[in-house]
Amino acid sequence: MAEQKRDYYEVLGVEKNADDAAIKKAYRVLAKKYHPDMNPGDAEAEKKFKEASEAYAVLSDPEKRRQYDQYGHAAFDGAGGAGGFDFSGMDFSDIFGDLFGGMFGGGRRANNGPMKGANIRTSVSITFEEACFGAEKEIELTLKDECKTCRGTGAKPGTTKETCSKCGGKGQVVFTSQSFFGTVRNVQTCPDCGGTGKIIKEKCPDCHGSGYISSRKKIQVSIPAGIDAGQSIRIRDKGEPGTNGGPRGDLLVEALVQRHPVFQRQDYNIFSTVPISYAVAALGGEILIDTIDGRVAYDVKAGTQTDTKVRLKGKGVPTLRNKDVRGDHYVTLVIETPTKLSAEAKELIRRFDEETGDSLNAVKNAGENGKKGSSEGKDKKKKGFFK
Ligand SMILES: [Zn+2]
Ligand SMILES: [Zn+2]
Repeated sequence: MAEQKRDYYEVLGVEKNADDAAIKKAYRVLAKKYHPDMNPGDAEAEKKFKEASEAYAVLSDPEKRRQYDQYGHAAFDGAGGAGGFDFSGMDFSDIFGDLFGGMFGGGRRANNGPMKGANIRTSVSITFEEACFGAEKEIELTLKDECKTCRGTGAKPGTTKETCSKCGGKGQVVFTSQSFFGTVRNVQTCPDCGGTGKIIKEKCPDCHGSGYISSRKKIQVSIPAGIDAGQSIRIRDKGEPGTNGGPRGDLLVEALVQRHPVFQRQDYNIFSTVPISYAVAALGGEILIDTIDGRVAYDVKAGTQTDTKVRLKGKGVPTLRNKDVRGDHYVTLVIETPTKLSAEAKELIRRFDEETGDSLNAVKNAGENGKKGSSEGKDKKKKGFFK
């Protein structure tokens, strides 16, 4: 935890814009070099292997890679109980198995020891405001629990399991095969007993031999203020049950943030567009602007042009680490042209225009001097078009 983590791209020795094939290739080289099976008892190699595997796990997953590119390691470090991924429970041999097709037999080794259960991923839909200020949500999902009848063994009470004849109770089968490394000794999880070394003769009637009972559970999810779309909340011990006395996995709840009709978010800043009248733009005046804190009054300066951007400091999204530290709200002021005008209002605009440069008669006035030139130009264009 205290140790500074190296950049994932640096770990794999690839460019930031490396494609999937380059990342896979780089990992393949490192994994081959540092795999524990090739370096028995070498703690440094194992550390390097894990570091490379973690980097590969993130960079080979488009969603995780995007989060990492945006937030760095902070994307996965738990951010005050919220967000992110924890690699400690990850089975790296799965990735390795994918790459090498079990060439080294990188399967699970500690089959009879306690193992942490798998993590479960789910999602929860929240509003824009709930993402900003946090919320308490209740989700429902199906969770497995250890079967009470057989205490998770899967065997009918009063019966005992038999030693697996295929692996002789070891949970692993060994065979050799030829590869470009020469003869390779393969160790794989026994397919008959799934690595437990035991075969259930008479199945438990309640769980049908699985050792687990599934049921619907309601789970409270505390959404922290400042969470952004795609970030996850980790709830400890609500994942799959562990095996052989291992702890449960975790539940990772991804926040799906609904679109807001007015506000857009980028990191901790909020953006919106606010229409203002021509009169306010020209003469200046107070307007009301919607923010996530409600409406705030804002003084528009006289002579404001359309597309003027103003910053409402500290009116953005609270940050995950400290809800009192907030982003800003950027507002684009857009002058609205009136479309429904009374005869009187039209007349007033005409009079106003006469007073301020007579733009309504600009062409007519210009024609007094250059009428000939302009009509000639028009004819020419017409001809060209219909030729
Ligand atoms: Zn049972
Ligand atoms: Zn077996």
